[in-house]
Amino acid sequence: MLEKEDELLWTEGLDIVRRLEAGGYQAYLVGGCVRDRLLGRAIHDIDIATSATPDEVTGLFARTLPTGIKHGTVTVLEGGRSYEVTTFRQEFGYSDSRRPDEVAFVLDVSEDLARRDFTFNAMAIGSDGEVVDPFGGQDALRAGVVACVGEASERFSEDALRMIRAIRFAAEFDFDLLPDVWQAIVAHRSKLKHVAIERISSEWDKMMAGSGPEQACHYLFKSGLLEHVIDPLPEAFKSAAERYRYNRLSWEWDRWGVAYSDEGSMGNLSQLPSISDTDLRWAALLTGMALSEGDCLELCQKLRLSGRRSLRIAGIVGLNGQLDFTDEDSLWESWTLAVLARGRSIAEDWIGMSEGCENEAVPSFKIWLEEMPVTAIADLNVRGDELSRFLNRRPGPWVAEMLQSLLEGVAFGTLLNDKSSLLSEAAIQSTESREEER
Ligand code: ATP
Ligand code: MG
Repeated sequence: MLEKEDELLWTEGLDIVRRLEAGGYQAYLVGGCVRDRLLGRAIHDIDIATSATPDEVTGLFARTLPTGIKHGTVTVLEGGRSYEVTTFRQEFGYSDSRRPDEVAFVLDVSEDLARRDFTFNAMAIGSDGEVVDPFGGQDALRAGVVACVGEASERFSEDALRMIRAIRFAAEFDFDLLPDVWQAIVAHRSKLKHVAIERISSEWDKMMAGSGPEQACHYLFKSGLLEHVIDPLPEAFKSAAERYRYNRLSWEWDRWGVAYSDEGSMGNLSQLPSISDTDLRWAALLTGMALSEGDCLELCQKLRLSGRRSLRIAGIVGLNGQLDFTDEDSLWESWTLAVLARGRSIAEDWIGMSEGCENEAVPSFKIWLEEMPVTAIADLNVRGDELSRFLNRRPGPWVAEMLQSLLEGVAFGTLLNDKSSLLSEAAIQSTESREEER
């Protein structure tokens, strides 16, 4: 986000705090925005905590949305932006390791901060700019550590998602997980089965998009947490993660820079941050883990990634698996076939992923792609109906087969992409296939 946007968000957030105060209530900016502000990082959203009840908040502002009235949250809309305003609350009794049995509105901001997960997430800033920091969040930021508010084991038992969040923040800020936090993660990892997969995958996806994806995956695999996701992840994924846990190996690149993994080897995670697109990072991770296209698709679907993203990620991994790097000719041939089968966009994605992985052979793949006269049936200078009229044959499945065969001919350079060459080749193939039928 632009710095100016950040400033606007922050100033407008403080403005809402002042308006709540003018109404006779206490109010503060809290949580992630305070932490990110103190770290000098970009702010994505503003959370406000107040002693006003949701009804009182609704009464003070012109445009509001009742986002989560039961939990005390009202969204205030100002200047085209939205601000979550939540009544100070305490939470009690997490009998299911995922959510409180009861919440109660309270009047003191410190009581509200006490329910939050990590000390650096449990700070507030008032309209006077003073930081309310009852648990030493600023110390944790200075020391570069992830520390729980209270006892790690207890906090992870209340809500098991916090284990995943601890990893996200450690990876994102390049902070250390304090030994008690790490030990509590390992001790309580099986409680992750109580957490909805959407919550886990949204955190995991943020980690993949963030500044420490390699560190995040390292912690996720090393902790054994992913073994305990409620809807089990594909076996191939779990066993690769498990192998990583015991033996950190790196994936191999052949001389063409194509990733492959032997039984027992594992992705080179350190390359993930140099890839700019999150989907390409996922693809690089799964390529390095030697997952099949089918396993990738299953994993993405289990993680509830959108259909479009799932197909994209699995497509890139599948393309990688289609390449035959025995020698240069086989590689060019398999690349050309893969581009035809999966389309230009997946091919460009694969190149993007490989570039991020410092694959030295990328220029060759780029040239090969540029030099392809066609990459899809739509690029052919003949249409299906023209074929059937020219050959005087009724339309049927043969048309698609014929177009595919012409496409390959043009892509491999054995056929020119002009109508008369295409039609005469079609006539030859049609006669041959009819003779075979006889
Ligand atoms: P970011 O927005 O950068 O992803 P964040 O810290 O703002 O990080 P949110 O999920 O937006 O994360 O939550 C806002 C705040 O709510 C957190 O800073 C924290 O104080 C509190 N919080 C969120 N999830 C939990 C949880 N599972 N347990 C306890 N407190 C939580
Ligand atoms: Mg947030």
